[in-house]
Amino acid sequence: MIVLKSPREIALMRQGGDILADVIEHLRAVVRAGMSTKEIDEEVESFIKRRGAKPAFKGYRGFPATVCVSINDEIVHGIPSSHRRLQEGEIVGLDLGCIVGGYYADCAFTLAIGDVPSGVQKLLDVTRESLELAIDECRPGRRLSDVSHAVQRHVEAHGFSVVRAFVGHGIGRALHEDPQIPNFGEPGRGPQLKPGMVLAIEPMVTMGTWEVKILDDGWTAVTRDGSLSAHFEHTIAVTEQGPDVLTRKNGNRL
Ligand code: MG
Repeated sequence: MIVLKSPREIALMRQGGDILADVIEHLRAVVRAGMSTKEIDEEVESFIKRRGAKPAFKGYRGFPATVCVSINDEIVHGIPSSHRRLQEGEIVGLDLGCIVGGYYADCAFTLAIGDVPSGVQKLLDVTRESLELAIDECRPGRRLSDVSHAVQRHVEAHGFSVVRAFVGHGIGRALHEDPQIPNFGEPGRGPQLKPGMVLAIEPMVTMGTWEVKILDDGWTAVTRDGSLSAHFEHTIAVTEQGPDVLTRKNGNRL
């Protein structure tokens, strides 16, 4: 069942979204080669707590950290470590969530550490663009799979693949609510979008095939063929006027 949110509930989720947007600005300024992924996690945890919010992922089904840090062929759910330091030329996906007044907000972006080859930059750009195209479908009367299709069409037109094993989701009093939002599918299917729906849309895109495997830590999902992977995510409210991106501030793009 898809739970519709009241304006008051959406306002709380926007408060969380504002915090995540500010964290991301901060991370863009401080994340660099040589930093350990554990240090990133500590930065984010203290930032979220300073703003009076609660980290959403820490302890969620036993996840041990505030941020999921997924490097290169890691797609999602990488665990921060004091032993893993970022290197020039890597790409790092940072997925973060917080809770304000009992409501969740969820956001992710992928950052290049220093210079990366143009093909890798293209992966990041196409994934980010596919999220924007999906957001534009978040309007009353569109169907859920219109969102999914917008991602797949753009990604595959550029020769990349969309991951099947993980999907976007409704969000609200729980981190993962109905509906599930695949990043692939034929348009015109599934429930009609309605004002008050809040969706976390999160394309996960690879330079190779879409098959995944989970590492022995039980969390980290990597591409089976070792190809690079990117991940971008926003939390969006469907309104009469169209999409309202709750995790965006001042029109900033991820
Ligand atoms: Mg999510």
